Amino acid sequence: MLSTTDLLKKAANGERLTPEEGLFLYTEGDPQAMMAVAHDLRLQKTEPGLVTYLVDRNINYTNVCTTDCQFCSFYRVPGHPEAYVITRRELGEKIEELLAWGGTRILMQGGHNPDLPIGWYEDLLRWLKATYPEIECDCFSPSEIENIAHLEDLSMEAVLERLHAAGLDGLPGGGAEILDDAVRKRISPKKTKTAAWLHAMRIAQGLGMVTSATMVIGFGETMQQRIASLTRLRQLQDESLAAHGNGFSAFIMWTAQLSQTNSLGRSRHRDKYGANYDEYLHTNAFARIYLDNFTNFQASWPTQGLDVARRALFAGANDFGSTMLEENVVSQAAAYTEKEPAMSVYRLHEQIRLAGFEPAQRDSRYRIVRRFDRVMSREELAPRPIPTRLTMLQEPVELA
Ligand code: SF4
Repeated sequence: MLSTTDLLKKAANGERLTPEEGLFLYTEGDPQAMMAVAHDLRLQKTEPGLVTYLVDRNINYTNVCTTDCQFCSFYRVPGHPEAYVITRRELGEKIEELLAWGGTRILMQGGHNPDLPIGWYEDLLRWLKATYPEIECDCFSPSEIENIAHLEDLSMEAVLERLHAAGLDGLPGGGAEILDDAVRKRISPKKTKTAAWLHAMRIAQGLGMVTSATMVIGFGETMQQRIASLTRLRQLQDESLAAHGNGFSAFIMWTAQLSQTNSLGRSRHRDKYGANYDEYLHTNAFARIYLDNFTNFQASWPTQGLDVARRALFAGANDFGSTMLEENVVSQAAAYTEKEPAMSVYRLHEQIRLAGFEPAQRDSRYRIVRRFDRVMSREELAPRPIPTRLTMLQEPVELA
């Protein structure tokens, strides 16, 4: 086995690390040296002076869920007094606010609601595309797709093909947590297993959809399990790039959010869970080195806070994530977003410039929408309301 210094040189030269080498580097290597190499790789693979961001909104269309993940503070069981399914008016108002901010995408996710048939999703997507054609719809996640497939007795292929035909542009990478079934069985025993998560992504990529890869650390997983999770993502990326060139658009990682509102945070084993900021940065840097076939890495300000997210821009990340004009899942457990639940475009620019980079707005495929070669004022980046498109809106009966 090479020394950690030689492994870093190998990675810096663009050579791939084996899982064994990766594990050795991750556990024994100097985190500062790893961050330096990760930053160099980021400068080589993406435009060096630029940090990109997305103007989007996370919309949670239903909080009804039957899956009881231990780390979730968001869901409500069917029939709960706080259970909801979004109406089209609510959804439209949120999108119009997003358009006023110059937004380009919605990321719509929800619980595993047993009362929503596939036709509900198809109708909603068709309505969204007809009403807001300029908005990219990256919606659901592999576990929601699997839930619909189970409810309808369909394959995941059939569900994704139908939803894609109705207007689904992308499948976000939520629900990956750690792609290792021993971990998944412990923290979310009713949720999608590793093979199904990867299978849904493989299908979505084959259909030409936008996809992202995620990892959440701090579930009491071993270092080997983290490496296994990253290796599975790297393998699928190889496979998809070779088959049709449409792989994951980005890798995003964050730390498990412990809170009194989820069972992980209340657990008597709480001390075994979670990960600190240093571990976040170290893992982010390692991922940039190990996932040699990924281009874009996102910093996660909603879970880590702004200071750590800015430091992640020197640990392999080239993207500051999104405005998240709204987020309800992480924010119900994350300490940071309780203080700053949403980020204005001006504030995002401020953070990127503070780190010494030029901000650039992108779309979900990381194509640049707008560059900003000078400092913009708060007024220039303020929202510009648009005329409503909801005047003739009639809610479908099943949404009532
Ligand atoms: S994380 Fe998702 S699947 Fe798990 S309980 Fe929460 S809403 Fe349900």
